[in-house]
Amino acid sequence: MEVDLIIKNTKCVGLNEFKEFKTPVSKSIIINNGEIIDINDNLSSIYISKKTIDGSNTVTFPGFINSHTHVSPTPILKGFTEDKVDGFYGLALPMEKQLNEKNTYLTAKLGIAEAVKGGYTTINDIWHYPWSIAQAAKDIGIRAVLSNKLKDTDLSKIQFFKYERDDHEGQTKLKDSENFISKWHNTNNGLITCRVGIHAPDTLSNKLIKQAKEMADNLQLGIHMHMGQTATENKYMNTEYNMGSVEYLNSFNFFDNISVIGAHCNFVTDKEKDILSKNDFTVAHCPIIGAKRSHYANIPSYEKKGVKIGLGTDWLTFDAFENIRASIYFHRLSTNNVESTNAIDAVKKSTIIPAESLGLKNSIGSIDIGKKADLNIISTDDLHFGGITKYHDLLSLVIYNATAKDIKYSIIQGKIISEDNKINTISESETLKDAELEISKIWKNHFNGTK
Ligand SMILES: [Zn+2]
Repeated sequence: MEVDLIIKNTKCVGLNEFKEFKTPVSKSIIINNGEIIDINDNLSSIYISKKTIDGSNTVTFPGFINSHTHVSPTPILKGFTEDKVDGFYGLALPMEKQLNEKNTYLTAKLGIAEAVKGGYTTINDIWHYPWSIAQAAKDIGIRAVLSNKLKDTDLSKIQFFKYERDDHEGQTKLKDSENFISKWHNTNNGLITCRVGIHAPDTLSNKLIKQAKEMADNLQLGIHMHMGQTATENKYMNTEYNMGSVEYLNSFNFFDNISVIGAHCNFVTDKEKDILSKNDFTVAHCPIIGAKRSHYANIPSYEKKGVKIGLGTDWLTFDAFENIRASIYFHRLSTNNVESTNAIDAVKKSTIIPAESLGLKNSIGSIDIGKKADLNIISTDDLHFGGITKYHDLLSLVIYNATAKDIKYSIIQGKIISEDNKINTISESETLKDAELEISKIWKNHFNGTK
């Protein structure tokens, strides 16, 4: 039988939905029409392939899933906000006034290219002009779950603890969300799907949050939002409603019969964690951005209560290995216990767990027959791996030492999107040049006070 692609003799992580094998196992993966159609040990295979990848000295992971990101502002914000106390409310949020469809498309294209090169084959993204991001996702070929960033509050004034609502803006964005979903949901051979996006509990009026939940219920789609992200949000919720974000949402049955992915969850009480544990809720834990902003969620306390955890990057960095390692470090610092987590647990939070949270577990999240071929093939040839011997725990060796640059191939739905650190589907140099021009305009206009 002729097939599209064979990856020969590679060590696979995440076979049988991570249930069976704790260490990478040597297999050949047979791919046709975007799907894994066979996984076998037999090298004199019955398959003839159009292309064969020699998997010697490689470890193949299921494609990583970024549970919470914003691909467009990733290149915009780099280097501007990291060391500033007011980096988020004083710079990042006010800058959003400079965004439009064109600069969102061009910056998203750059952000997606970086994400693919960092090992992410699926992004769960919430941002303005999501149709521009959908187009960029389609051009590159990434799997994307996209949401419009619903809000009806002037984000530039929150730094002064002023919450000015604009009903017209909220209703316009609600309509935009509906139109976006009807045009883009389940398109590009199923690579693009949609969720209902809510910026945050404090930046939407009670009316708009209820409308968003109603839309998600009617369309039978999940919700992607920020939750308990900052001390300012927490202060506002307690001042205005005398309770935290989770309790507030629960007071009008927001979590009933719906999948919610909530990013950060830094400011959530134990009582609120109990509420989350009883619902279809996933914490999108973004360890690096949390630490950069000097706080991070106490993930072990959520896990104790049975709340699902997926890893995200928010913006700023896209190296999946760096993110996985950071999650392990902060987990252990939270518990002072090495055994509190390990490499395989952290890999699951970037693969099979978010696949389930996004309702995509039948398609992605592991290396299994019948699933889509979303894969990262990691070369272990470079000297920083110190050579592969039988004495090594191969999974630990890769997780604690690999960087994005070790990804030899990134495959999405059977198509090789990135090879030897180069994206195949677009011109990287043109993408960088186009985005750079827009980014310089954004900041120039922002600092000149235009808009
Ligand atoms: Zn975010």
